[in-house]
Amino acid sequence: MKNRTFNFSPSAPQQPPQQKGEFEELEAVELFCPECRRAMPVRKFLLLILPEGDKYEYRCQQCGAKVGEKTDRSGQFYGILKG
Ligand SMILES: [Zn+2]
Repeated sequence: MKNRTFNFSPSAPQQPPQQKGEFEELEAVELFCPECRRAMPVRKFLLLILPEGDKYEYRCQQCGAKVGEKTDRSGQFYGILKG
């Protein structure tokens, strides 16, 4: 009686290699949330449009707590206000 061994290795789900730079709009940002006490995925909200740039706020997707903010300099207003 032959014992034939088949290679039945469960194929792990292959994850596509992450290519940075291609999905900048959909960037998955994780920041430490003080409410959840761990790094959580966050959502980006546009708060204000200021002369020095657009102000964004990062909020935890889980509990909605504010976990960070940043100002994006668009530069558009400089061109408009210059005269
Ligand atoms: Zn949270």
